[in-house]
Amino acid sequence: RRPLHAVGEPMPLRQGQRQATMLKVLNCVAQEHDLRLVALSAVICVLGCFTTVTLLGRAQVDSRRFVPWTFAAATLFGCSIWSLHFVSMLAFMPGLPIVYEIGLTAASIAVPVGGAWAAFQLLRLRAPRPVVVALCGSVLGLAIAGMHYCGVAAMRVPGLLLFDRAAVAASCAWSLAFAILALARSRDLARLGCRLEVAAWLTIGICGLHFTGMSAVTIVPGPIGDVPATVLGGAALALAVGGVSLVILLASLIAVMLEQHLAQRAMQELDRMRLLANLSHEVLILQRDGVVLEVNSAGERLFRQDASDLIGRSVMSLFATGSVPALCRRMTLPALERKPEEVEVQTLAGTNVTVELSCEPLMYRGQPATAMALRDLTDRKRDEARIRHLARHDALTGLPNRYTLQERLEIALETADRDRSGVAVVYLDFDRFKPVNDLFGHAVGDALLVRATRRIQAELGATDMLARIGGDEFVIVLAGVAHPEKAGDTAQRVIEALSKPFLIEGHHIEIGVSAGIALHPVDGDTPDTLLRAADTAMYRVKDEGRGALRFFEPAMDAQLQARRQLEQELGGAIAAGELMLHYQPIVNGASGDVETLEALIRWNHPVRGLVPPNDFIPFSEETGLIGRIGAWVIDTACAAAVRWPQPWRVSVNVSPMQFRLDDVCATVASALERHGLAPGRLVIEITEGVLMADAVKAVAVLNRLRDLGVRIALDDFGTGFSSLSYLQLFRFDKFKIDKSFIRKLGQSDEALTLTRTIVNLGHNLGLQVTAEGVETAEQLAILQALGCDQIQGFLVARPAPVSSFGETDRIRARALFQGPPALLSA
Ligand code: C2E
Ligand code: MG
Ligand code: MG
Repeated sequence: RRPLHAVGEPMPLRQGQRQATMLKVLNCVAQEHDLRLVALSAVICVLGCFTTVTLLGRAQVDSRRFVPWTFAAATLFGCSIWSLHFVSMLAFMPGLPIVYEIGLTAASIAVPVGGAWAAFQLLRLRAPRPVVVALCGSVLGLAIAGMHYCGVAAMRVPGLLLFDRAAVAASCAWSLAFAILALARSRDLARLGCRLEVAAWLTIGICGLHFTGMSAVTIVPGPIGDVPATVLGGAALALAVGGVSLVILLASLIAVMLEQHLAQRAMQELDRMRLLANLSHEVLILQRDGVVLEVNSAGERLFRQDASDLIGRSVMSLFATGSVPALCRRMTLPALERKPEEVEVQTLAGTNVTVELSCEPLMYRGQPATAMALRDLTDRKRDEARIRHLARHDALTGLPNRYTLQERLEIALETADRDRSGVAVVYLDFDRFKPVNDLFGHAVGDALLVRATRRIQAELGATDMLARIGGDEFVIVLAGVAHPEKAGDTAQRVIEALSKPFLIEGHHIEIGVSAGIALHPVDGDTPDTLLRAADTAMYRVKDEGRGALRFFEPAMDAQLQARRQLEQELGGAIAAGELMLHYQPIVNGASGDVETLEALIRWNHPVRGLVPPNDFIPFSEETGLIGRIGAWVIDTACAAAVRWPQPWRVSVNVSPMQFRLDDVCATVASALERHGLAPGRLVIEITEGVLMADAVKAVAVLNRLRDLGVRIALDDFGTGFSSLSYLQLFRFDKFKIDKSFIRKLGQSDEALTLTRTIVNLGHNLGLQVTAEGVETAEQLAILQALGCDQIQGFLVARPAPVSSFGETDRIRARALFQGPPALLSA
């Protein structure tokens, strides 16, 4: 028995043989093989390699199941080479019977499976370095070669196997080279093109190795050697190969179906992602290499283009030109440092929209891409602008507020200093605004402010600025004022504009405005000093009767200070017993006999002396002190009246605020009872203001007072709101014609006509008519001629403590009325 030559110990070949290796390969394939089986083996190899690569592709994207995927790939790969090898062996027709030793045949499957598995595992690292790729390729190449030579070693032929060393080396080098090439090119196996390419390199490597390896073998015929008991014959081998090939085919089929299924799932996943992305309010753009891959519907809305038009466009073209440099700079930063930032995109309409851009790298269809999220900042910007505006403007009128006024005034003063020009500050404070608010409610008050603002604005020039700095306080800044008269003119126009009545929600409302003017640089050189000076001048107007304008004068400062202090001291005045009542007689229009004494409050201030009611009653109304003061007046007046001669009545003023806040009826009733004064001797004087707020409630209170037996007079008739409708609500006992009409009697025909009308109206309604503020004999004569029932005024007597109103005064008064009859033409 002659042993076969050991496999793996190649026989030395001659020089000529080496050069002819290539030719031998071709000869080997063409002459020593059944070409049909060779073709079949090639098909198996291609199929196996492609399936292997497909499975590897799966492993690449499904990293969680990397191990099972690569195991399946390695197994399939090993089996593919193996079946290629043995189908080729079946195709090999050396003209000698060949059998195969089972152990080595089995090893020829185990070697490529194990080798490929090891190579694929090593390659797990993403984007491996070339040296790793080379290492893995080498392992794979050796596994392929190992399979081949195991298979050859399993061959048992009658004769001797001779190996051409050079051809063996060449076959191994071939296998290694193509395995490395295949792995190096396997970066993106999700792409079909890539898969086909890698499968092709593997197939070339495997087939090349096989046929080069076969051509390296020469069989020298001889007696059959030592054939082990367990060998595979041709039929058994065919069966085994057929089986394995079938497995490969099946595996390929399953892999393809699986791939299809997974692709479908990936599509579904993609659809779901798209749906979610479309639900998002944020614009989402997927881009790779600066090209748009996907965009959600928020993006379509923002750019006003269909997704199909946006996809494929350059990302940069979506941004405003101004933002491109910032974006380019951003690209150069490491991903972690790319914080969200504000950029502008350009819509199809050509408008720029500010967005907040944030980017996130991700894998999209197996390849790295960038997700860009754009948050439309339009709303936020608008809100911010609104908040900024609110912080600097008055919400009701939209005018600049105190803060903005301060700021702009500062700028105006700086400019004026530079240009040596003047600035005027006009401080406006509405007259009678508070009662409107109190009586008609805040909605009417607000509407009035808005309408008044419009009227003021209409009187201003383009460069003049109007600010609202308090409830009914406004400031006009007039820049570049050369002459103070210009400021005076503007203020006067505003005063006139506001003196016209307003019609709001059916109410005729008359307010007015008091204006104080301060000039830069004479009256002050900072916003604060100027505003204070203008405010002081305005206060002076209030003191002098409202509805006018005053320029600031240095002496006003001290007066304002005094007034402020007075306001503070009022709280303690009642307790300190500083309040007192003066009385002014109201006499019979014909006889001059005293009929009533009107109680008029005075504040006997320890330092300032007698303070008139107009200086503290409005303030007491603002602070609510009017309740206590009013009750004190009613009580004191009733106490005094009890001691007067029986026919004299006492007349008490009740302010609208007092009427609203307090139970006047209860106060009156208890005062009458406490002092035992007959209710018929008390007259309550109210103004129209009492009826304006809640006429129904006011009328109810007035009726209760009337039920007590108290008389009710309508004071200051002809001023204020002067609505005759109030006369229908309640039947007063008397009118008191306001002194503003009486003052003009004898000078103005209009005043005469009005007075006559009021007297006639009163008489027609069956009321008494009193004229107040009668100062001259001429006024008295006219009033007497008109048939006025009662006269009150300095002509008769000034208000004074009742003790000083003695008998001599009464005689003097009566004498007045018994003079020569008045000359009255009408
Ligand atoms: P009124 O009720 O119309 O009172 C008449 C005012 O005219 C008084 O001013 C009186 O001094 C003044 N007067 C009288 N005759 C003449 C005149 O011939 N010429 C001029 N120029 N004025 C004359 P007074 O005392 O300063 O009071 C002003 C206002 O203060 C009163 O107007 C009244 O509305 C209010 N008032 C006075 N006392 C009280 C009070 O106790 N309670 C309330 N709520 N208001 C009061
Ligand atoms: Mg009065
Ligand atoms: Mg009056």
